[in-house]
Amino acid sequence: MTESSPWHDRAWALRPSGEAFIAGDFRPALSGQTFDKLSPLDGRALAQVASCQAEDVELAVNEARAAFDQARWSGLRPVQRKRILKKFADLILRHKEELALLETLDMGKPISESLRADVPGTARCIEWYAEAIDKVYGEVAPTGPGSLATITREPVGVVGAIVPWNFPLLMAAWKIGPILAAGNSLVLKPSEKSPLGALRLAQLAIEAGIPAGVFNVVPGFGPTAGRALALSMQVDAVAFTGSTLTGKSVMRDAADSNMKRVGLECGGKSANIIMADCPDLDAAATASAGAIFYNQGEMCSAGSRLLVHRSLKGALLERLQVLSRQYQPADPLDPATRLGALVDAAQLARVEQYVASGLEQGAMLRCGGERVREESGGYFFPPTIFDDVQPGMRIAQEEIFGPVLSVIEFETAEEAIQIANGTDYGLAAAVWSRDISLAHRTAKALRAGTVYVNCYDADDITVPFGGFKQSGMGRDKSLHAFDKYTELKTTWLELL
Ligand code: NAD
Repeated sequence: MTESSPWHDRAWALRPSGEAFIAGDFRPALSGQTFDKLSPLDGRALAQVASCQAEDVELAVNEARAAFDQARWSGLRPVQRKRILKKFADLILRHKEELALLETLDMGKPISESLRADVPGTARCIEWYAEAIDKVYGEVAPTGPGSLATITREPVGVVGAIVPWNFPLLMAAWKIGPILAAGNSLVLKPSEKSPLGALRLAQLAIEAGIPAGVFNVVPGFGPTAGRALALSMQVDAVAFTGSTLTGKSVMRDAADSNMKRVGLECGGKSANIIMADCPDLDAAATASAGAIFYNQGEMCSAGSRLLVHRSLKGALLERLQVLSRQYQPADPLDPATRLGALVDAAQLARVEQYVASGLEQGAMLRCGGERVREESGGYFFPPTIFDDVQPGMRIAQEEIFGPVLSVIEFETAEEAIQIANGTDYGLAAAVWSRDISLAHRTAKALRAGTVYVNCYDADDITVPFGGFKQSGMGRDKSLHAFDKYTELKTTWLELL
């Protein structure tokens, strides 16, 4: 694939808007400030993006507030909202290639993944919540004769959503779907590292018929635009996905302002446990490689700690080293590429710093460990495997967010569970065993929001996703997501 391949030609012909999207229209930041969105593929400037400040966020929130207070969206019949959101999902699919390109250029993932997973997943999420709109019922409480008490769900009002860059479209969709399906207005703050897809989504939402002011996007930096949302007195709930450190700041800001409701989807350091009776070592190796190398390892649920029984370690490592060759970083716009670019120079530096720390602390580097394709101007890092990792090492405790695997060996299942639970995080975990009792006992003992048995990263919109411990609170996906975006109202009627 050369620089003049069709995907390259299309990519560089794109002229994505970087302006804020408020009240149904693109507009520059009030201050006129912009920043350059650079491509992780080769460092070239893709767009000038509005650097929204507190005043822009206030404007967007006021528009969202007005739309909500006037019931422009929540006042529509459920079937109307369903039709509009379904049309929105259709439009996403109709613009699949354009959105996939934006996704790849925004954050560096392979175009084949953007096309296969991210864009269809985004559309499916919106469609699923659209379908749910007229299927969620209220309750009647058993209060006894003489009274009737109904329990209904009402939209919480204006929701601020703050999202990261690792799955820009999908993480946004996990918020947009249930927030809009529940009848709320939304102000979305995409990551400054990947703002382009969200802006295009908002434009498509208007085309689908979502009323102006209901879905606004304020690109900008965390400490300015993000904080302004978390601190706003007019925002009723903030839905955050990002690092644990930022999640704590969002929580403090919510408390220091109007005690808005907070949902947090934060980091992870997930353990993938291969028991001595693993039913299929080839399948476990393939899933373990995907668990850490997919999406360049920039995955909250990455299986970044591979806990393997001493008797299987050699055989598993051998397989993993072979598999890692299939994930050699290459041009993200080549459809054959499986591992793309890290999102930016800062993320590359972070990964390099953790590799250095692993070496300093005595872990053994089996493969990878050094930047590649530097001449491209992009940020490429190969699959990296550390062996002989001790559970207390930084590379076994802290989220690296890159294609770096820490292999830890264990002797007993109890030891594996103890190591698995021995971090601040609790997002996901996996156990491989042919013994259903052992697998189930282990799954119960693991303190994680999702536990995979004999698989990794199996996924569907129908199941909730979120973390125990410092991986967050609340859940995205499934009907449980409505808990974050609705208020329960009790209406008590005395039957006089
Ligand atoms: P980040 O915390 O740096 O930024 C996330 C978002 O918060 C961005 O939009 C950013 O601009 C904004 N932000 C930064 N500082 C802020 C502040 N003080 N107030 C308000 N907003 C602020 O995270 P990131 O680097 O963009 O994303 C990677 C992290 O996201 C990883 O820790 C990963 O595990 C996590 N993540 C979690 C999930 C999940 O579902 N649990 C999913 C994807 C990513």
